[in-house]
Order: sequence, then structure tokens, then C-alpha cells
Amino acid sequence: MNIEFIPISKPSITDREIAYITDAAKSGWVSSLGEYINKFECNYAIYCGTKYALTTSNGTTALHLALLSIGLNPNDEVIIPDLTFIATANAVSYTGAKCVQVDIDKNTLCIDPEKIKKAITNKTKAIIAVHLYGHPADMDEINKIAKEFNLYVIEDAAEAHGATINNKKVGGLSDVGIFSLYGNKIITSGEGGIITTNNKKLYDKMKLLRDHAMSKKKRYWHTEIGYNYRMTNIQAALGLAQLERIDNIILKKRMIFEWYCNGLKNDSRIKLNYEKKDCKNVYWMVCVEINKYTYKRRNALIKNLALKGIETRPFFYPISDMPMYKSSKKVISQRASSHGINLPSFFDINEQQVKYVCDELIKAI
Ligand SMILES: *Cc1c(COP(=O)(O)O)cnc(C)c1O
Repeated sequence: MNIEFIPISKPSITDREIAYITDAAKSGWVSSLGEYINKFECNYAIYCGTKYALTTSNGTTALHLALLSIGLNPNDEVIIPDLTFIATANAVSYTGAKCVQVDIDKNTLCIDPEKIKKAITNKTKAIIAVHLYGHPADMDEINKIAKEFNLYVIEDAAEAHGATINNKKVGGLSDVGIFSLYGNKIITSGEGGIITTNNKKLYDKMKLLRDHAMSKKKRYWHTEIGYNYRMTNIQAALGLAQLERIDNIILKKRMIFEWYCNGLKNDSRIKLNYEKKDCKNVYWMVCVEINKYTYKRRNALIKNLALKGIETRPFFYPISDMPMYKSSKKVISQRASSHGINLPSFFDINEQQVKYVCDELIKAI
């Protein structure tokens, strides 16, 4: 029997993307100068409701620039959630600062504000809030704590373009926001990232460091060590086309989630993504947590679904389990990580395919 392969993720590339990419290539502006860069940055800032947006080579370099802009010193500490993609922690390490992991909220899977306070020391400089799998972190509480302790807040919105709290978009809810535009994210530029901020000083600093910290007045004059973290005009052409479709992409993401809810609602062992009141989840990836599962059973489930043509992914492993960041185990992130998998969530998936995934998942559990 021939079974259809259903991938976890796949970008949606339409004639619009192809037209813009072709136009950028034909224009000769193939590196990091060009109209698509300007337009993409300008329109992304408008989309997020921020004063500034700055494109970068990827989400990790966006995060690195954001952390550099707040002036971290070696020995400073930055608070991060224990459950996130490794880039959140690594970007902190690039600056010489130390990341301190904090447990997550069991519903949103984002950092638990109640546990942040206990992790603050006199070395703490910043908090990175990650909007995990498309759900916004509790920015009101996080900003309150940051104000009390005089800390910077950075949003890692790599997985949450367009998510909102009280109708305000993530990326504009703290000092700096960063987004990834990798091929499997809500929108893509191939590789790429984008930073949002309302703070002119931070924006200027990040823009300078993105381009080798070259003096604006004197070409090839540099007074500090900078980086080449620029995006190309061709990538921005792809990004702009995607941005023009983002409302439609998010609508579809939310519809896919509804289909999964319908297909899995009768199985009490399965917990799906959460959406907090006043928040809009963009469901970057459909998440299921299976009650009482262990890593071993979870990994067997992934293998069994693969035999049915269904690609799934495990949740991230807790940062505190990684050899470079080893620290005490956090109860909720350990549990979510061992229970969780992501299901196919790409733009072009149809209702029938979702139904098939749901039926096979229930059978396999
Ligand atoms: C994807 C991702 C990043 C890094 O983005 P890249 O573009 O892959 O460098 C950072 N943080 C989180 C939470 C991510 O999911």
C-alpha cells in the first residue's frame, strides 16, 4: 500500500514570492542593499506597531544583536525559560553572560513569572521572554518584575509573528523583540531574522553592530568590534511577499488547530495547545502532550507515526539538561518535554490529512 507522506512543516511559496525574488535578482541588488530590505523593514515595523525594524541574517544573530545592544558584561546573568530552542541560551553565551533557566507555566509553556523573582540576583541584567510555539508569554507580569528590579526585557518571538496580547502584537511589548524567518517559521525569508524596537538608542546600536560597527561619517573606520549580520535583498523580497500574506497564513494556522481540536477532543489523554484569555495564539506548531508519557514512550510514538507517513517532532529538551547549561531540573519543563510532540502544521495541509493524523495518533497511543 502506498502511504502519503505528511511533513511537519513546509513553506507556502506562491507566485507573489517568486515574482518578488525574481525582481530582486534582476535588479542586480543581490546583497544587503536594496529596496526590498527597506520596504520589508518599514512594513514589518508597521505590522508590529513599533518605530523600528531591522533585518538580520537569522533569528540567532537578531538575538545576539539585541543582547549586545543592552550592554551585557561577562558575569552578568540573563533569565530565560527552561523550555525553548537552544538559540535563546546560546545567544546569551556569545556575549559572555550566563543564562539562568526558569521553569515554565504548564498551560502556556512560556516562562512562569512567579518563578522569575526567585532567580533574580544582583548580577541579573535582563529577562528573555520566549513566545513558545506561537503563544505569547505573560508580558504584563514580566514587565512589572523588570520594572521593579530595573531589568531589560527581550522578547524572543521567533515562533510567534502576529501573536497578540490585548490586541497588541508581540515584538512591541518590551525593550526589543526578535523574530526568526527560517523556512519553518510563521513567515520565512529562507534564512533570516528581524528585530523590532521603539528605542532609538538600542536601534542605532544594533544597526551599527550589524555592519561591522563602521562609522557613519568615515568609511572603513571602526571604533569597536562589529559583525556582518545582514540580510540580503533577495531574502527580503521573499520576506516581504510572505509579510503581505501573513493575515491569511495566521488564519489558516488557526483553522488547522481547530481541525486538530475536533479530531482529538474525545481523547482525555491528549492535551492540545492553550490560548489564554486576551491572548491570540498563532499556533506555529500544533502541540500535543500525552498524559503520563515518558521520553521512551514518546519516542516510540514518533517512530510509529513515521511508519504511517506522518512526520512529527519531539518538544524541545529542557535547557537545564544540556551539558553546557546543566543545572537543577525544573518540574514542569521536564514533564512537558517528555510528554510532548508537534504535529504537521504547514499552510497547505487539508482537513482530510489532519483527520488522518488524528485517527492514527489515537490508534498509536
Ligand atoms: C527558530 C528559533 C530561534 C532562532 O532562529 P534562527 O533563524 O533559526 O537562527 C530562536 N529562538 C527560538 C525560540 C526559535 O524557535
